[in-house]
Amino acid sequence: MAKQDYYEVLGVNKNASAAEIKKAYRKMAIKYHPDKNPDDKSAEEKFKVAAEAYEVLSNPDKKARYDQFGHQAFDGAGGFGGGSMNMDDIFSQFGDIFGGAFGGGGFGGQRQRSVRGSNLRIRVKLTLEEIANGVEKKVKVKRKKQAKGVTYKTCGTCNGSGQVTRITNTILGRMQTASPCTACGGSGQTIDHRPANADANGFVVEEETVSIKIPAGVQDGMQLKVSGKGNAAPGNGISGDLLVAISEEAHPKLQREGDNLHYDLYVSLPDAVLGSSVEIDTVTGKVRLKIEAGVQSGKILRLRGKGIPNINGYNKGDLLVHINVWTPKTLDKEQKAFFEKMRTNEHFEPKPEHSDKSFFEKVKDMFS
Ligand SMILES: [Zn+2]
Repeated sequence: MAKQDYYEVLGVNKNASAAEIKKAYRKMAIKYHPDKNPDDKSAEEKFKVAAEAYEVLSNPDKKARYDQFGHQAFDGAGGFGGGSMNMDDIFSQFGDIFGGAFGGGGFGGQRQRSVRGSNLRIRVKLTLEEIANGVEKKVKVKRKKQAKGVTYKTCGTCNGSGQVTRITNTILGRMQTASPCTACGGSGQTIDHRPANADANGFVVEEETVSIKIPAGVQDGMQLKVSGKGNAAPGNGISGDLLVAISEEAHPKLQREGDNLHYDLYVSLPDAVLGSSVEIDTVTGKVRLKIEAGVQSGKILRLRGKGIPNINGYNKGDLLVHINVWTPKTLDKEQKAFFEKMRTNEHFEPKPEHSDKSFFEKVKDMFS
């Protein structure tokens, strides 16, 4: 099914200001709020779609991407950028938008609070090639899941609210305090039937293979979230998330610097003098490179777009090939005689031209 345009969803035009977008979303969110439309699946769907549209259009980066690429902007990224949201995400992210419209903010009074399972964390090692091209990784995680046959019931102590309110009479008057229910740990649910293999919460630990789509351009230390692949929660609670920390493996030939890559190319003296053609490794395979006759050591060749794609946009970094002319360390008699003769030859005298910039000038150029 084709996705509806986010501007259409919110009923605003493309030039709408941030305030207009927020106002339009608030209107939609209140109209389709689940407290106002109990058990109405189509209202719930509209509520979710509006939240998704608002999530993108209220974020300047995501909005810019969406304006340029439409829904495709978020498809390729493996669902980390936009995509479907569950009700809890919506309330936790945009709860403030409802203001006073629904009593305490997000949930109305009758809604049972739902509890989240704990998050799981893993580390995924990626090669530079995988980072450059994006990759789907399958990882095994041990998750707590609700055991087969387990049943829960509404907690009798807190009646499912997860909280106990205590009223005490003090000399200052009646004081009301709320604290998490100790009988159910705040989940509002207690175990009804516990299978023999399950723990006190009705969980068993199971190994599961989770597939993680990693978008191109991630960086060492970055964290991705796979919603709902953490530990389970009791009753009808929501599972926690799987948090994936990225770690980048060093490449034998390429060094990364942001989205750019650097490659040290060693050229023999004859190749530098006569010119040549060499094959070098890039993150998308080998590339043939022409070395001009008379190339100087320290020259940097820039291969545009052969670097790493930017994670936030659609630009790609460059591959910078640093030329190093290799001077032989030993010579035989004949070679030695040749170079002795060339010592006084004017062709071998350094005559730097303006275009043969020094190393420091080149570095300055690269960052300007
Ligand atoms: Zn309770």
